[in-house]
Parts: sequence; C-alpha cells; structure tokens
Amino acid sequence: MIYLSEINDEYFTIGEISFNEEMESVFADKEILWTDVKSIQFSKSKEDVNIQLNNGEHFHIPSDTSGLVSLFKNMPETVSNSDQEFINKIYTELKGCKVCGNIAVWQNQCNVCHSDQDDVNDKDPAIELENIKEEQLQLFATYEEDEPIDWEFHIDPNYQRNPDWKLLVSEEEIIAFSRDNTWNEEL
Ligand SMILES: [Zn+2]
Repeated sequence: MIYLSEINDEYFTIGEISFNEEMESVFADKEILWTDVKSIQFSKSKEDVNIQLNNGEHFHIPSDTSGLVSLFKNMPETVSNSDQEFINKIYTELKGCKVCGNIAVWQNQCNVCHSDQDDVNDKDPAIELENIKEEQLQLFATYEEDEPIDWEFHIDPNYQRNPDWKLLVSEEEIIAFSRDNTWNEEL
C-alpha cells in the first residue's frame, strides 16, 4: 500500500507499506523536494497519477491514495500539470470525514487523518457510531504515558471543517485505549 504524508510547500513523502516473509509490516519512505519534481499528471483513465522527477525517476500512485488531494493543494507552479480543471472538480466533490471532521474525503479516503470511510460507514447507525469511535481512539491515541493528547493536529489549513462534526470519545477513553494499545509499543 502506498501513502503520501508530511505534505507541505517544500517537500512531501511517498511511503510504501509491504509485508516481509514473517508477515511483519515493513515501511519504506522517500522524501521528495518539490524543486526535484518535473511534473505530476493523471493518467487518461484518471485511475493513477504519474510523478516525474527531474532526474528521470518516476512514481505511479493510484488515485485513491490518501494524501493525493493535499499533494495538489501544495503543488507549486514550477511543477508541470495540465489537470487543473479536473483537480478543481475534485475540490468541489470533497466530503466531510466522519472521523476527523475535515471536508477532505475523496474516493472514500480522508486526506487528513487517512481513514478509509469504507471502514467506517455502515447501514446500522449503532455500528457506524462504534466504528467512528474506534477510529477516533486511534487518531488521538498517545504513545507514552506522560504524553499529552494533541487535540489540534488534525486541524489542517488546506481544508474546511464540517461544523456538525463531533468528537465521540472522551479524554478518559483515549487514555484507556492508549494504555491498552499504544503505550510502550515496540516500533
Ligand atoms: Zn479524516
């Protein structure tokens, strides 16, 4: 699985999660400076995007890669791109994320918190509520006992926020979840 992260006006990171023979997840990522990018173009089918670097290297990433919309929002004018009309259409189609509240969901992927809305949506509202809570616990989880919860990190200036969004988990629930799942996790 490919992901885009740490996207800003200077650089971005393309990462890939794969599994080794022991079925452990392996992360590989590469930081790319915008000044090294020659062009970013959608394929004809719009199913993937080709990122071409000045040194000849290139990356194909699927259109439903989380972070792609943020990549376009941070793309400087020095990068060649002829998809602006299509990109503007994407901006008008963005939906609110049920997990983090940003209007940043395209092709079911949230460009801010990286949640997959397919994992959240359910016909049964009670199940959907539980799914949202589970994702929010993971989103706000801390990694060490004395680490404060960061309530602000999901606020992204690239996107508007859904005023109806609500945080469905309490501080106590986040701490309890973190104690059971993420504190002292061996990375
Ligand atoms: Zn989100």
